[in-house]
Amino acid sequence: MAAAQLTVNLGALQRNWSGLNTLTGPSTEVAAVVKADAYGLGAPKVVAALLDAGATTFFVAAAEEGIEVRRAAPSSTIYVFSGFMQTDAALYAENELIPLLNSPAQLQGWQTDMGSKTYGMQLDTGMNRLGFEPDEFASVHAQAAKSSLLISHLACADEPEHALNQQQLACFHTMTDAVAREAGIPRSLAATGGTLLGSDFHFDMVRPGIGLYGGLPYSAAEPVVTLSLPVIQTREVQAGESVGYGAAWRAVAPTRVATLAAGYADGVIRQLGNRQLDNRQPVNANRENSGLLSNSVQLYVNDTACPMIGRVSMDMITVDITSLEKDPLSMELLNKQQSVDLLATNADTIGYEILTAVGSRYQREYVFS
Ligand SMILES: *Cc1c(COP(=O)(O)O)cnc(C)c1O
Repeated sequence: MAAAQLTVNLGALQRNWSGLNTLTGPSTEVAAVVKADAYGLGAPKVVAALLDAGATTFFVAAAEEGIEVRRAAPSSTIYVFSGFMQTDAALYAENELIPLLNSPAQLQGWQTDMGSKTYGMQLDTGMNRLGFEPDEFASVHAQAAKSSLLISHLACADEPEHALNQQQLACFHTMTDAVAREAGIPRSLAATGGTLLGSDFHFDMVRPGIGLYGGLPYSAAEPVVTLSLPVIQTREVQAGESVGYGAAWRAVAPTRVATLAAGYADGVIRQLGNRQLDNRQPVNANRENSGLLSNSVQLYVNDTACPMIGRVSMDMITVDITSLEKDPLSMELLNKQQSVDLLATNADTIGYEILTAVGSRYQREYVFS
C-alpha cells in the first residue's frame, strides 16, 4: 500500500510571498510567519524557499520553534510572538531570537537576564490577547524608544467592514506615532488580512502567514498543498446497506465504496464526515442518505469528484466511487479543485485549522512547480 502523500509546492509559496510583496509599497517589508512548523508544512523547507523569494524576517510563536528557523536562515531576523519566559533565556541567546515583549514584567525579565540584547514589543490595540495595554506602554516610553519593532495584531482583519479594524488602527497610531517619529522605530500591524485592507495598515512591515500557504483571506493565493490518500479496499454495497459507524450513510442504490487510509487521527477532522446527520444528535438509522444528500466533501481522481460518505473513523474514510470506471489506487482530498478553505467550510472551521491539522501528520514531498 502506498503511503499518504502531502505535496507542498514551494514555487506556489514563493509566488504567494511575491504577490503580497507587490501589494505593498517599497517601504514596507514583507516578513513571513512560520509558527507551528510553518502552518504544518515544515519550517526548514518553507523558510529556505521564502529566503530565496526575498524574505528576511521571520516570526514564530514560541522560542523552541526558533531553533529550526535559525538553522534554515542563519543570518535572518527571527521574532517570537509569545515574548519572554525566563526558562527560555538560553534558547534566545543561542539562536539569536528576538522576543516581542508583551508586558512590563516580560520587559523587566528580559533586561535582567539578557542585558541590552535586542527586543521588540507587542501592543494590545483591542484584541485583548497579547501585548502592552496603552497605559503600560506609556509607562515604558524610554524602553520603547530602544526597541527594534513595535507590533500589534488585528482581531477582525478578514472582515474588511468590521469597525474594530479602524479602531485598532487608530489606537496603534495613538500608542506609537510619537515613538516612531522621535526614535524611528519600525512598526507592523498587518497579518494576511490586514495586508489586504490597504496601505493604511501596512506601516513598515507586514506579517502574512496563511496567505503564503494558499489560504483565505488572500483569495488570489495559489494553492500550495496537495494531499493524496491511498485506497486500502473497495467493495460493492447493496441498496439498503449502510457504511461506517452509526450506519450514518445508507445506500439507496448499488454503490461501489472505497476505504481510504486517513482519519481524524491524521487531521482529517471528524466534522468533515456525513454532514447531513447532525453528529450531536442520536443517529436515526432509518434515515436514508442518498448520493444527493451526502456531504459535499469530495475525493478526486484527476478531475472526477467522488463524495465522501459516512462518518470519519480514526484512521479511515469511505468514498462513493460508483462513478469511476476503475478502482483508483489513491484519491486527492486537497488539490486545486478542493482548497483548504473549501474543505474548512464543510467542517465549519477555517483553513488554518485544516492546514495545521493535516500538514504535520503526513510524509511530505516538496516540489517547485
Ligand atoms: C499568526 C499571526 C500572524 C499571521 O497571521 P495570518 O492570518 O496567518 O496571516 C501575524 N501576527 C500575529 C501576531 C500572529 O499571531
